Amino acid sequence: MAETHAFQSDIAKLLRLLSQSLYQNREVAVRELVSNASDALDKYRLLSLREEGLPASDGLQITVTPDAAANTLTIADNGVGMTHDDLIENLGTIARSGTEGFSKGLEGADANSLIGQFGVGFYAAFMLAETVEVRTRSYTEQAGWRWTSAGTGSFTIDELSGDAAPPERGTEVVLHLRDDAKDFADPQRVEYVLKKYSSFVPHPIHLAGADGETLHVNDQPPVWVEPKGSVTAEQHRQFFGYLSGQVGANPLWNLHLSLDSPLEIKAILYCPPLNPERMGLGRAEHGLHLCARRVLVQSDCDDLLPEYLRFLYGLVDSSDLPLNVSRQALQDDTVFLKIRRVLTSKVLGHLAKLAESEPKVYAEFYEQFGSTLREGVATDGPNRGKIGELLRFRTIDAPDEMSGLQAYVEGMKEGQTQIFHVGGRNAEAVKRRPTLEAFTARGLNVLLLTDPVDEIVLNTLGEYDGKAFVSVESAEADLPPLPESEDEKDDRPEPAAPAGLEAVLGLFRDALGEETEEVRQTDKLTGSPCRLVTPGGGLSPQLQSVLGAGDK
Ligand code: ADP
Ligand code: MG
Repeated sequence: MAETHAFQSDIAKLLRLLSQSLYQNREVAVRELVSNASDALDKYRLLSLREEGLPASDGLQITVTPDAAANTLTIADNGVGMTHDDLIENLGTIARSGTEGFSKGLEGADANSLIGQFGVGFYAAFMLAETVEVRTRSYTEQAGWRWTSAGTGSFTIDELSGDAAPPERGTEVVLHLRDDAKDFADPQRVEYVLKKYSSFVPHPIHLAGADGETLHVNDQPPVWVEPKGSVTAEQHRQFFGYLSGQVGANPLWNLHLSLDSPLEIKAILYCPPLNPERMGLGRAEHGLHLCARRVLVQSDCDDLLPEYLRFLYGLVDSSDLPLNVSRQALQDDTVFLKIRRVLTSKVLGHLAKLAESEPKVYAEFYEQFGSTLREGVATDGPNRGKIGELLRFRTIDAPDEMSGLQAYVEGMKEGQTQIFHVGGRNAEAVKRRPTLEAFTARGLNVLLLTDPVDEIVLNTLGEYDGKAFVSVESAEADLPPLPESEDEKDDRPEPAAPAGLEAVLGLFRDALGEETEEVRQTDKLTGSPCRLVTPGGGLSPQLQSVLGAGDK
């Protein structure tokens, strides 16, 4: 007997959007269903390696059958399959990874561009189908289940037992095509879509043709084992699209590694063109794909890189890894930790090279991911110095450019021993502050920290090239003497403090009371009568206002 269930309310909303989605997005539905089939095969392979008594995992495959007569497109796999409860949990709620990111991003954003970029998982089926039918049998059961929905508020589930039971474990998704999606019953159209989106799926995809022949669609060798120079930009674009779901986008850069020592590693890492975290799409939670001798061990392995490199997509293949280990054992594995260390250092090395050889690309990278990368200064002690080299700042001399600490140090004036910084939004406003006078009069450049977090980062970094970071507001700022040319008064005796200055200072002390630690005379001002400084080791006013913002 069929039972009827209501979709979670978010899904109903999503389904409405999908049914109105743009025509060019529809191909994505095939990609999503094939990727689910592939995930189900991966899960089965892992289970069969770990659990005694399960039939071996030979012959894992995906079969795609377009049927023009029946006006259907069927995507079948012999993976783990689903039980009754799996169906309700997996195909009735929106807690799934891909879909979740999408619905988070929906608020205010353009749904059509998001569908193309991030994918909407299983529900994408409704872009092509009037009715979706899922026939499935879990590897744990003899009977099977049928899930059907017309993509309006509900779905039904009924049991398939006896003769109706699927002969094998696995899942078959039957799309009863919409009138405006009939072309997806044409084998040539489907072949084109499969080649476009699913060439890198790590299981064979067979396309059943009208003539009864089947075609192995994804029979090329995997890109990451190919020699570095032979992978074309187009192949990279496709592989990046496959890994990230950002189909059609060009990665900002790629890093193709083939190492023999200290470990045998083949890997390709991609930097996406945009940072979804900056678009308010939430924290990047995806990881890298980990393979052992070309066989996927774990997808979304988020411990293979430190968190501050979480924006990268990629695949890592090592023949030194065991195939059948649990997630936990994997993370404690010394090989695994070694891979992580090697990858981290390769990525940092690559960024340093990129900054040198392709400054424009690096600037774009830094604009997108600089705020994530700089987290590493606090969290990755051993690599702190290397990350410090990669940081970029605006300066009051060149407020429209981002430059590195090395460039700052090279431009330091004679007698300058410290690296100065000031917090503020724009250089013009900052330059008008009295505190800056002493610095501009001496021609000293100052890092312009537009984000208060940068000050924390510099404080953590402590120093660069033996030079301390000092706020211009700090009493510890150690200024070189004024340049000769600008100061002919040098030959003359120092002007004595005007009579009565002590009395004025006294008035200030009385008036300010405990608000100040000290009121004293300075020779560091040229035009303004007074300025505020923070005592040695104190936080700059900008940082104080950020940290204290909650107190007020
Ligand atoms: P995601 O793949 O990101 O988890 P989807 O919406 O694509 O989200 O799929 C939802 C869930 O449905 C999957 O996580 C999986 O548990 C289940 N599922 C979908 N297709 C299959 C399939 N062919 N075989 C087994 N389980 C599946
Ligand atoms: Mg999916």
